[in-house]
Amino acid sequence: MMIDVHCHLTDDLLFTNLKDVLEEALESGVVALVTSGLGYEDCLKTLEISDNRRVYPSLGIMPYNLHGYDKVIELARKNRYRIVAIGEVGLDYSPWVDIEREFQKKVFVEFIELARELDLPLVTHSRSAGKYVLEILLENNVERVVMHAYDGSSSTVSRAVEKGYFFSIPPSIARSTQKQKLVRKIPLENLLLESDAPALSPNPGEVNKPSNIKISAEWISKLKSIPLDKVKETIMDNTLRIFEIKI
Ligand SMILES: [Zn+2]
Repeated sequence: MMIDVHCHLTDDLLFTNLKDVLEEALESGVVALVTSGLGYEDCLKTLEISDNRRVYPSLGIMPYNLHGYDKVIELARKNRYRIVAIGEVGLDYSPWVDIEREFQKKVFVEFIELARELDLPLVTHSRSAGKYVLEILLENNVERVVMHAYDGSSSTVSRAVEKGYFFSIPPSIARSTQKQKLVRKIPLENLLLESDAPALSPNPGEVNKPSNIKISAEWISKLKSIPLDKVKETIMDNTLRIFEIKI
């Protein structure tokens, strides 16, 4: 049994054949999924497709398109008892992003405060900004964190691990030495499985699917020399604990 802790089921690439996507996931042992809304409209759609039995909603916004972020905050407050996390939210310092870094930080801190107010875990986006996202989280003494697809160096993660932060590992680990290094460094007790579908597929250019989190599990098992069953079992415990999901 596995749970995909981060995907985007409302993305057209998955949404147009959602029934098949969910069926294929179930056949691969994915018993539940956390789907992440990005921006107000997408968050509404995310709530609509979530049944809180297999599909759980998380509400957030991308740091490179922060339009309407205050409406996302309001929506999260209104739906506190339906959602299982805040996010993804964070920083994106990719060269093509034209949103001021100071503004990105200001909004990120607002979402940090929201997660604290609602007592929900925070799922972070940190493209080309892993180290900075971690700094802000530690400065603000955030307790419940999922670092989604962390792209920082493995040398920066010790304090996050000490603090009990989780790192969710996407199927792109199959082609990313950075993710492989990360998995070697981080204890199994701090790892989760995510697809980030339709992004971060194991093969470049392919549409990713939640069923592919089995690839992340297999890589973790191989890199850590821990039997696959034990990997899945421990990560399932981690997941149920951080998201307070009951299966
Ligand atoms: Zn994502």
